[in-house]
Amino acid sequence: MADKPKVAICWLGGCGGCDEAVVDINEVLLRVANATDLVLWPVALDFKYDHIEAMSDGEIALSIINGNVRNSDQEEVAKLLRQKSQLVLAFGACACFGGTPGLANFTTKEDIFNWVYRDAPTVVNPEGNYPQLKSQVDGKELTLPKFYEQVFALNQVINVDYYLPGCPPPPYLVMNAVSAVLEGKLPPKGSTLSPRRALCDTCPRNKTKPSRIALKDIKRIHEVEADPDSCFLAQGIICLGPATRSGCGESCISINIPCRGCFGPVEGVVDSGAKFLSALASIIDAEDDEEMKKVIEKIDDPAGYFYRFSLPVSLLRGKRF
Ligand code: SF4
Ligand code: SF4
Repeated sequence: MADKPKVAICWLGGCGGCDEAVVDINEVLLRVANATDLVLWPVALDFKYDHIEAMSDGEIALSIINGNVRNSDQEEVAKLLRQKSQLVLAFGACACFGGTPGLANFTTKEDIFNWVYRDAPTVVNPEGNYPQLKSQVDGKELTLPKFYEQVFALNQVINVDYYLPGCPPPPYLVMNAVSAVLEGKLPPKGSTLSPRRALCDTCPRNKTKPSRIALKDIKRIHEVEADPDSCFLAQGIICLGPATRSGCGESCISINIPCRGCFGPVEGVVDSGAKFLSALASIIDAEDDEEMKKVIEKIDDPAGYFYRFSLPVSLLRGKRF
């Protein structure tokens, strides 16, 4: 009997939700476990990296990597898996675009350390200790990974073959991706394994979206009781559907929450935040600059809002980079 394809699943800088999304495919996971040889899945099974290091280059058929890269340990693991794998799938918004932890690129490593180890009201650190790469404890040397100046998406560190966006990706897309790999029916390398169209094209509220929207005011979702059947934008509530790739199954829209952009930009768009800003500017109905300013000021934290999942791969990349 031919050897089963080896598969690795790994979590770098993320929240663990993407690993849960793998479990969410329920009984299909048993089919995957039968059809493949799982060689690494630290969150679920006890494998050692030594075991991966001892493998030949390309011996792993597919590495599914979630989370971004923020420290030297994550970079090392990403590079090891790239070397040992025929295919690498960036799984989830953090791996694809940097994700919500990528918003840390709006601040500096120094500011993060000062807040976490010195200034936060809950911190008690009278000796002013900060993490060190090497420290001596009871005569033994302890080491920590190096914390980088910024957050990187996976493809800023290694070559990535396929992308599966979402925060986290929905089970049906995970199953489609797994089936495509097992059946050898993958699209060209570099593809995103999700529909190419914008979310607005698949949204059930699209029929209530006027062909021309003229916004006089912007409302935040907690300030109003949103009509569950009408387009959010038509109600003056910011929804990133026009600039976001579809494929999520409208899970947020269906619970009356506007799109926040976790599927990243539609095909061919480099910077989803800039794309949405330009779309928004074109629908604000203001007589003069003063009126425009008043409407814009209703958007709390615009950079964080429009680049919530994609700052590291945007044209801005962050505050300092
Ligand atoms: S994409 Fe979302 S669910 Fe996945 S690791 Fe990042 S924050 Fe968590
Ligand atoms: S703007 Fe939002 S609510 Fe309106 S059609 Fe697009 S995705 Fe749906």
